[in-house]
Formats: sequence, C-alpha cells, structure tokens
Amino acid sequence: MKLNNLNDLFLHELQDIYSAENQITKALPVMMEACSSDKLRTAFQDHLEMTERQIDRLDRVFELMGQKASGEHCKAMEGIIKEAESMMKEKAEAEVMDAALIASAQRVEHYEIAAYGTVCTYAKQLGLTDVMDLLHETLEEEKMTDQLLTQIAETSINLKAQ
Ligand code: FE
Ligand code: FE
Ligand code: FE
Repeated sequence: MKLNNLNDLFLHELQDIYSAENQITKALPVMMEACSSDKLRTAFQDHLEMTERQIDRLDRVFELMGQKASGEHCKAMEGIIKEAESMMKEKAEAEVMDAALIASAQRVEHYEIAAYGTVCTYAKQLGLTDVMDLLHETLEEEKMTDQLLTQIAETSINLKAQ
C-alpha cells in the first residue's frame, strides 16, 4: 500500500495496532500460567478482558473509517512477546519470574502507549473526532495499566523478588 498522505499513514498504523492487540490476547493467557502471584494474575486477566474490548473499539474505528481490519502484522509486538516467551523458559524463583513478567508486560504497554498516542494525534489532525475519542479511551486504559503494573511491582512483587 502506497502512503500518499497522513490518512494513509493513519490507516497503516491502525492495522499495526490491531495486529498488536490480537497478539496480546494470545500472550496474556500464557503469562497468566507462568504467574505465581494472584494479584498479578488478576491484573493480567483484567487486562485481557480490557484488550478484547479495545479490539472491539478498533473494529468500530475501522467501521467509521469505512475500512477493513486486516493485513498488517506487527513485528515489534511479535518480538516483545518472543522475548517474554524466552524469559518464561528461564529457570527462576517464582517471585523473580513474577517480576520478569511485569517487566515484559510493561514493554507491551509502552509500545501500545506510543502507538495509540500517535494515532490519537493523527485522528485529531484529520478532524476525526469520534474516532479520536475511541482511540483516546484506549490510550488512557494502557496508561492506567502501565501505572497499575508499576504499583504492583513496587509495593509487592519486586520486594518479594529481592
Ligand atoms: Fe491494548
Ligand atoms: Fe508495530
Ligand atoms: Fe495493553
């Protein structure tokens, strides 16, 4: 697909995020299995459900744009998940593995925060208010999730790992 303008780039970025979110729904259940802390597992479960709603939201965005969701594969998310998978294969104390899972999960969230920040800016620039509202809702969820993970790490998981 040739990118002629910001609208084309916007659609390209949306496809990338759509792929990333779908990959995350497959990775989170695996991370939940590797997890020992109930608190962390619940946070992953909650974010899995949130991610499914974010995918629905992206479906609505594509609908509003008159486009189909498909095509792109987010290689960056594939890489982040691969790294998490190899970490999960390491021999580690349960508490240390939990800390490592948070480290991986926060890489995922930061990628998403960057991606959603970009498409929010594009949507605003393109005057797509309804689309921007949907994307902004997700951006705030990703930020909240990142903060929650930091809080769980600092108040519990990292202390146990230490
Ligand atoms: Fe997400
Ligand atoms: Fe990507
Ligand atoms: Fe997320």
